[in-house]
Amino acid sequence: MRYWNILLLLTLIGVMSACDKQSMSQVMVLQGKVMGTVWRVVLFGVDSVHKKALQQAIQRQLDADDHMLSTWKPDSLLSRFNSYQGYAMQPISADMADIVTKALRIGAKTKGAMDITIGRLVNLWGFGSVKQPVHMPTDAEITLVKTQTGLQHLRVIQTVAGQWLQKKNPGLYVDLSTMGEGYATDHLARLIERQGINNYLVSVGGALFSRGHNGKGKSWRIAIQKPTDNENTAQTYVNLQGYGISTSGSYRNYYELDGRRISHIIDPATGWPIKHKLVSATVIATTALEADGWDTGLMVLGSEKAKELALEQQLAVYLISKEKDKFVSWMSPQFLIFLTKGKNGNRDNF
Ligand code: ADP
Ligand code: MG
Repeated sequence: MRYWNILLLLTLIGVMSACDKQSMSQVMVLQGKVMGTVWRVVLFGVDSVHKKALQQAIQRQLDADDHMLSTWKPDSLLSRFNSYQGYAMQPISADMADIVTKALRIGAKTKGAMDITIGRLVNLWGFGSVKQPVHMPTDAEITLVKTQTGLQHLRVIQTVAGQWLQKKNPGLYVDLSTMGEGYATDHLARLIERQGINNYLVSVGGALFSRGHNGKGKSWRIAIQKPTDNENTAQTYVNLQGYGISTSGSYRNYYELDGRRISHIIDPATGWPIKHKLVSATVIATTALEADGWDTGLMVLGSEKAKELALEQQLAVYLISKEKDKFVSWMSPQFLIFLTKGKNGNRDNF
């Protein structure tokens, strides 16, 4: 969804190194581009004659997902809904109804911190498909645009005849960017499983899902990157087996305006980009979609409220904050269960 350089917080460090020479011969790595980011699939035990067909099938499916969810493509299903400025129910696909329903649920649980109706604010701050801004938005502009946001203005309607979305505010503009990578990741996992493949790791941008083992009979070991601008070193490692993981961060996707760092994550309550000490939120959930929804909500809330919510909702959460010049991390009890040792045997490498 995002057409600028996206941070790839979840890398495959450790995955390849975990494979010995013999099993490497059975590794198949596929990758491509979608939603302004990179998708990647690592498989074991699949005959290389299937590689080309699989690559094409994956790309086709991901392009179709993008065509449903993109706010960058004027003819996407979502863009057509956004450009309609009225109250009538608009037909959508079952998949889109599912994504929006889940997004609204997470939105309610984060008390509106995760808000997919934030699109006009995202555009106002220059992170959407509408090219903006060369000046800081004024309070009046923000206040005006805020009247066209809010979870209460959007409704999903499911009947035996189909699924619809309805605006209760005709100016509403839905932005599913924050859930897009997670959705595409889960969808990709389903495509892989339909081929009868049970040992795989798939990722789209910062969302990832894995199942089975890595060719050595071990669960996949995922590295979570350090929240610095350039480094490609791992902060910590988790074992993933049948779970999705997603990271949202404020430290790479930003620009400077009037000497201020403008993050691409916006607090729906104030209409302003977030500006607190929390630099990244990683969530593990049963689906990458859920993880991708929660991580943004937690980023908006900031460390203290994010911790409270993680404990209350029993989420597997890993937060990294910047305190003075040091990075300070926090893990919920549910996240600790997934921790694994890094390459050098340490549990935490910073
Ligand atoms: P990334 O993986 O790039 O950190 P996220 O999954 O955190 O991305 O999603 C960030 C995107 O979500 C923004 O670029 C914007 O389009 C949208 N967004 C920004 N603020 C919010 C919010 N409070 N709720 C929902 N979506 C948001
Ligand atoms: Mg997200």
